[in-house]
Amino acid sequence: MASDSSRVRQTGVLYIVATPIGNLDDLSARAIETLKKVDVVAAEDTRHSRRLLQHLGLQKTMLALHDHNERERTDSVLDLLEKGRSIALVSDAGTPLISDPGYVLVREARLRGLVVTPIPGACALIAALSAAGLPTDRFRFEGFLPAKRGARRAALEALKHEVATLVFYESPHRILETAAEIAAAFGAEREVVFGRELTKAFETFYAGAAGEVSGQLTVDPFAVKGEFVVMVHGATQAPEEGVNLDVDLLLRLLTAELPVKKAARMAAELTGLSKNALYQRALEIKEV
Ligand code: SAM
Repeated sequence: MASDSSRVRQTGVLYIVATPIGNLDDLSARAIETLKKVDVVAAEDTRHSRRLLQHLGLQKTMLALHDHNERERTDSVLDLLEKGRSIALVSDAGTPLISDPGYVLVREARLRGLVVTPIPGACALIAALSAAGLPTDRFRFEGFLPAKRGARRAALEALKHEVATLVFYESPHRILETAAEIAAAFGAEREVVFGRELTKAFETFYAGAAGEVSGQLTVDPFAVKGEFVVMVHGATQAPEEGVNLDVDLLLRLLTAELPVKKAARMAAELTGLSKNALYQRALEIKEV
């Protein structure tokens, strides 16, 4: 039976290679070495990544691996690895799998016992957080918010009590709307930092209260041009921590004086919690 080390030697390695998010000098020496030595480069967009390879003077066999073909392509990539070919996975910018394709491939490769190794480098969310001046001991990356307005508002509403710093990716054509929705959902005073065009010539940080930053972006003609990382300071108090009892007490006091529906509406205004949930809870309390 083959030992683990001979299996490692026989099969190829899948390298997950981070590429720049704007500034080509951010491509690491190790990333360049890896791109040079691999047999195949699997890219989200082969035309886009070929330009990077040309910039490095490399001509490589490439294959496309994107959101729409990742499941079908995975088996053929894994077969190549099992035949001993080494493969670099790259995305259009930054670290593959971070709001980019590659998860299915990496998961399947690991399930087959293949070697997967990261070649770390640029990642927009880490670059943004590192320079934003917001707490980084805990953060919650939410990727892109839903495109539909209702779903986006609901997603933000569900996050308003999160105590960790929140990080989102956003495209320029939705940034004004998202900025306004963040101010509405989290309150105009919540601290936010928006990082735009990071590592590029027109890198800009917009920082301050959510309402102010939203206004600032509205009058900035450059705001709708460029890529954004949106960061929101976490809530200063989690409602779950010690507030549940207060909510019950509040409902008890209110329902003693008011009809349940009205009590639930007032409690919702005071706590920011869901009116329906408070109505249900008020009914339960009254029944006890
Ligand atoms: N995998 C990438 C990474 O590691 O950051 C992210 C890919 S995701 C499809 C693209 C989003 O990342 C953009 O819409 C934007 O929100 C963010 N992004 C990428 N490059 C950026 C940059 N230079 N400045 C600000 N945001 C950037």
